[in-house]
Amino acid sequence: MQTPPSNIEKTQIHTPNGICAFLSHYPNNIAFHAGKDSKDTILKNRSTLISPFHLSNLAYLNQIHGNIILNAKNGGFLGDGDGILITQKGIIGMIMVADCNPILLFDSKQKILMLLHGGRVGLQKGILHNALDLLQKDFHTNLQNLFIYIGPSIRACCYEVQNDVFSDSTLDCGKIIRNGKIYLDLIAVIRAQLESYNLTNHTIAPQCTCCNKTFFSYRRDCNCGRFALFAYLV
Ligand SMILES: [Zn+2]
Repeated sequence: MQTPPSNIEKTQIHTPNGICAFLSHYPNNIAFHAGKDSKDTILKNRSTLISPFHLSNLAYLNQIHGNIILNAKNGGFLGDGDGILITQKGIIGMIMVADCNPILLFDSKQKILMLLHGGRVGLQKGILHNALDLLQKDFHTNLQNLFIYIGPSIRACCYEVQNDVFSDSTLDCGKIIRNGKIYLDLIAVIRAQLESYNLTNHTIAPQCTCCNKTFFSYRRDCNCGRFALFAYLV
């Protein structure tokens, strides 16, 4: 006999009409590659979170801290990359994180959705720039109409780094020195990258994943699972 899926808590994200987006939470791990949960548990968690859709509708990546964005023509495993482009209904994008920034971009005029994995390295390599350039080049998106959301991530309160992460100037605007230690404010870096496109209108989730135990945090527990940003066109 099959046990019915239990209720799994999720947080709905306030978005414009045309998409549905939400975050999953600790303790429901959704990643095969992280944490100590069985494959069955991960599948059950994913399935419950995206119900009434089927797991075959779920599009996800092998996230590699790069700048590659893959076009999801179907659900399922898409390959190596850190961005998912969705232009069709019935495909649910999932970006897995534990401290990195889950980023959502939505062109409400043309119904184009993007989900990004924006960690320190990916942002340095230009994942956000690539996403904005791709929307402009391939879809003629007017970026001023873009809905931009940055989810819970590790914030400057907790993100202590070594000086060698500032090897190039990309992250300089996020460098903070406090009590002789160096911290990185990736939100400042994201804001600056958006401002280089004259984008100042965005929603930033207030939670630091390391302070707030609602979410998984690699910095707090390097054996932790992952939570995710899920989004799809409606
Ligand atoms: Zn914090």
